[in-house]
Amino acid sequence: NLSGRLQQVVKTLRGQARLSEENISDAMREVRMALLEADVALPVVKEFIAQVKERAVGRDVLQSLTPGQAVIQVVHEELTRLMGEQNVGLNLAAVPPAIILMAGLQGSGKTTTSAKLARLLKEQKKKVLLASADVYRPAAIEQLKTLAKSLDVDCFDSNATQKPQDIAANVLDFAKRHFYDVVIFDTAGRLGIDEAMMGEIQQLHALLNPVETLFVVDAMQGQDAVNTARAFGETLPLTGVILTKLDGDARGGAALSVRHITGKPIKFVGVSEKVDGLEVFHPERMASRVLGMGDVLSLIEQAQKNVDMAEAQKVADKLKSGKSFDLEDFKSQMLQMRKMGGMGALMDKMPAQLAGMAGQINSETGDKAMRRMEGIINAMTAEERRKPEIIKATRKRRIAAGAGVQVQEVNRLLNQFEEIQKMMKMFSKGGMSKMMRAMQG
Ligand code: GDP
Ligand code: MG
Repeated sequence: NLSGRLQQVVKTLRGQARLSEENISDAMREVRMALLEADVALPVVKEFIAQVKERAVGRDVLQSLTPGQAVIQVVHEELTRLMGEQNVGLNLAAVPPAIILMAGLQGSGKTTTSAKLARLLKEQKKKVLLASADVYRPAAIEQLKTLAKSLDVDCFDSNATQKPQDIAANVLDFAKRHFYDVVIFDTAGRLGIDEAMMGEIQQLHALLNPVETLFVVDAMQGQDAVNTARAFGETLPLTGVILTKLDGDARGGAALSVRHITGKPIKFVGVSEKVDGLEVFHPERMASRVLGMGDVLSLIEQAQKNVDMAEAQKVADKLKSGKSFDLEDFKSQMLQMRKMGGMGALMDKMPAQLAGMAGQINSETGDKAMRRMEGIINAMTAEERRKPEIIKATRKRRIAAGAGVQVQEVNRLLNQFEEIQKMMKMFSKGGMSKMMRAMQG
């Protein structure tokens, strides 16, 4: 998959102390293949590679990065740029009711996403009305009603014998009379793009005058997703895209191409079929994910799901049994962080508490600093690790010499450790859940 292949490139590049043009070319060939295999549209790939090459070759690598890291940084920046730099949120600045029109092919996830959006807006204290104009599939209106009910959101009682245009007029009238803030208007989709369908949605658009016209597209469709997006973009003044089913084995290429091809921002991504499976789209995080650099969310998720859960539980048990958090635990926490990909880029995105575990480390030196701290702890005896309070001047000097660092560094580590120990004591009172919550920032 895309991430896997790019991660391989990242791995190879990361170790490079020196980069030749040939080096870069090799890496770019790999990146190019990876992108194409992931269904990123060819023109997008071409432009992307050209941009990266140009910027990487001309890059001043005199900064604190290795050339390999510099190239990765360029790739990361360009990927982010390709997806639009920053998240663009929903624009609901309109005389109420603000209308959101949902467009897309059948099965793309319009109805599900309508409900997901309703849930989100309800959380923001908006008075939301869901409405469906899908009169072609008997169950479609019911599907939306059921979803609305489960969310405790109002749903317009569409009459399936009416024309979608008439339903739209009724919905508009109803929403105005009942002072809704937002109307999410779900429409019918066809299996492919056809003129009748495009004509209908154009008319609905003209009638409803939506502030948001969102194109919903299934990420698993790969190249087709982009072609459909283009066709819709030519028919409707889209204001944004929602990429669904990113939780499946979508190759991810659609996320990379859609913005470039349509010029419209991806505003959200669907990550499950459940109503809470909608995430705000962050280009920068997506780029990190694609490059395998991880992001805070997946980091935390991972931490919660596997290893760290057990690790945290161990620490919690220990605290409960009256034993205190010692340097041995501190070290295992650091190792844990490294395992979770404690690369430089991750450090400054981590929640403060987590990053705090490894001290005041900045992104460039994070990994190195962690290793140094480990080195210091390694230079201690088992007894010193269990009872750091016995480490006085003579021991400090011995440890510093053993780890090849200055005594001040040993002091700093011990101070940081003390801070964390205090934090741990606090957690032990609140138990596991409190700790996990705090880790999430
Ligand atoms: P519509 O025809 O465009 O209204 O599509 P639906 O909302 O009815 O969704 C079609 C299918 O895709 C349903 O089975 C949904 O549960 C599923 N679906 C929609 N969005 C997502 C998503 O983000 N992830 C997953 N896994 N399934 C989704
Ligand atoms: Mg539907």
